[in-house]
Amino acid sequence: EQTEVDKWVRATCRFCGTGCGVMVGVRNGKVVANKGDVESPVNRGLNCVKGYYVSRILYGKNRLTKPLIRKEGKLVESSWEEALDLVALKYKESIEKNGKDSVGMYASGQMYIWEGYAAAKLFKAGIGTNNLDPNARYCMAGAVTGFMTTFNKDEPFGCYEDIEHADVIILWGNNMAETHPVLFSRVTDHKISKPQTRLIDIATRKTRSTEVADTHLEFIPGTDLAVLNGIANVLITENLVNEDFVSKHFNFKKGLENIGYGLEDKFKFADVASPLTYEDYKAFIAKYTPEYVEKISGVPADKIRELGHLFGDPKKNVLSFWTMGFNQHVRGTWANNLCYNIHFLSKQLGRPGATAFSLTGQPSACGTAREVGTFAHRLPADMVVNNPEHRAFAAKIWNVPVDRISPNVGLHALEMLRAVDYGKIKVLWIMCTNPYQSSPKLARYRKAAEDRKAFIIVSDGYPTRTTELADVVFPSAMWVEKEGMYGNAERRTQHLGKATVPPGEAKDDLWQIIQIANRLGYGDMLFPYPAAKTYDGQRAETGESELKKALWEEYRQFTVNHGKDLAHYEDYMGKTGLIWPVVDGKETVRRYIEGVDPYVKKGMEMEFYGQPDGKAIIWARPYEPPAEVPDADYPFWLCTGRVLEHWHTGTMTRNIPELNNAMPNAYVEINEADAKTMGLKRGDKVKITSRRGSVVAPIEVNGRGNPPKGSVFVPFFDDQILINVVCIDAFDPISCQPDFKKCAVKIEKA
Ligand code: SF4
Repeated sequence: EQTEVDKWVRATCRFCGTGCGVMVGVRNGKVVANKGDVESPVNRGLNCVKGYYVSRILYGKNRLTKPLIRKEGKLVESSWEEALDLVALKYKESIEKNGKDSVGMYASGQMYIWEGYAAAKLFKAGIGTNNLDPNARYCMAGAVTGFMTTFNKDEPFGCYEDIEHADVIILWGNNMAETHPVLFSRVTDHKISKPQTRLIDIATRKTRSTEVADTHLEFIPGTDLAVLNGIANVLITENLVNEDFVSKHFNFKKGLENIGYGLEDKFKFADVASPLTYEDYKAFIAKYTPEYVEKISGVPADKIRELGHLFGDPKKNVLSFWTMGFNQHVRGTWANNLCYNIHFLSKQLGRPGATAFSLTGQPSACGTAREVGTFAHRLPADMVVNNPEHRAFAAKIWNVPVDRISPNVGLHALEMLRAVDYGKIKVLWIMCTNPYQSSPKLARYRKAAEDRKAFIIVSDGYPTRTTELADVVFPSAMWVEKEGMYGNAERRTQHLGKATVPPGEAKDDLWQIIQIANRLGYGDMLFPYPAAKTYDGQRAETGESELKKALWEEYRQFTVNHGKDLAHYEDYMGKTGLIWPVVDGKETVRRYIEGVDPYVKKGMEMEFYGQPDGKAIIWARPYEPPAEVPDADYPFWLCTGRVLEHWHTGTMTRNIPELNNAMPNAYVEINEADAKTMGLKRGDKVKITSRRGSVVAPIEVNGRGNPPKGSVFVPFFDDQILINVVCIDAFDPISCQPDFKKCAVKIEKA
């Protein structure tokens, strides 16, 4: 195999947030193979089925290779000059006529770090609007607000290696076997080599992850909040709390309750936190007895007690994993807070294997969306636009007058699509994502785009349900057709080498951003590096690395001494990544622990240095029901999610025949008893309808997953079965992340 390629280039997988290392084989300038990187500490040579086929995404037969402009209702080929000039003109016209906040960008946790950073500069420091928000809003905004409210510092404190030190691993509404398969293989490997390890699957349906679990606990959708409070209740009432530890390292707070579901346009929410004492918190948690929680959640009281005892056992290391189950939740911030609570109360943190770990969906949700600050409220390194000191700090590094950066939080991702409909957003650039398939209550937003209520630009590698609605399409270079940098779920920043050039006239997204900046008159101010003028968006020899190095070293200044220290550009070249903060050349695998994290002062044992007094927060958050629950008209719960073979909306994986043939269409996973009652058998088509719309899909019974009676699951990868038409666009008012996991539907034979 080695002799069949000219060289192997080190990269990472293009798909999930695990961030597996991949070696890319190149022959005659073309990518001809890939294999797992045996030196990668993430995956140690293993990939999942998507990863093994990852290089095939470059050569799908539908690649976009020419810019397209809509003329007389049809997208037709154009030159780059014409397409770029038109986009710049539309931006200028709208800014002049309607103001800076009439334009925006819908970005992506799949963009490389440079692309997110350049987009943040263009919109926040150039145009002067914060209408820049990533698809990560749909993916892990609740994790961000969970971290910020608890720690005032974003991102996990543990690392993947905690798996191998854990005695108990809990999956919270998280089908890790399909969503983070290689990480799950580390879990199963650990279980095999240390059979006493307990895997507990707490979920709303049985999945492939359940097959390996020792215990499966099913809860009624949305009641995970009650289960988490129930565990806290057991810890307190059975004296399992490490009270010295708690008083030394935590404060107690409560926020507002009954905070709404974000269903109206222009929904505004401001949380107000008030301090509590430990006694107040105990009084709050007193009602969440295991018996009370059983009534709400359906989880047996003795199982809640057992979970409390597992957490409260100081000889055991408990590791919690979660992803979309907590985050795509109208009370997602609270779910994150409550999970930290039980780890704090029981001291299940601060040692290898004892941690609470929020997994990310996308390959650079951490690196690009969170760290760079492509969120509508953020600047790089956890800074925010509505803090004058943070704006001043950013303006200094960006070398722009501070008043160029708006103090107003921009529109979040879903609100941007709403604003297209209600007329506030007139020009929207969508980069590296597919919101006209992935957004909830989809028909409303598709219609607004079809009615041409805004001028829409889309940068992508393939035609999608979003490019079909565009006025201009920019063909983008993908994956190793350009040099890249991603940040994975364990704070590991990884470099992806360039292995080939993009096809036809497809070009680097970074180049596209700089070209628009030039045309808007911000090029010299924002991208003053010589290579920004020579890089042609395709060929490395035109200055690609010089440009990317200059941008990296500038961006790095935000991170140093902010607890997020990134290393120099060269330190990542050809390596398997470094976990930040990287201080004095050393990575930090676990944060907040004395002797391990260089930011923790001597004698502190643990220090949550994001908070002014070094203490993290234990929040009193109640159980509240979801935005919509089944009733006589819509008697079933609907949950949506991912499958192993496809990446998100399938725009890449559906162009890989092996993956698409393995999973050719979406389906409605239904309980056998419900299917029987309705006279349905596997493969029969059903119409699934909510108050927002309906789709038709075949049913699956006793497949890889199995929901309980009264509940169905539908994956969202299928561009022909747009299940998001059915989903509700309710969101968590703190994170503004929509809830794709819970709404009410009816099922009829189609
Ligand atoms: Fe690894 Fe995720 Fe890629 Fe699979 S999809 S190879 S688990 S990064």
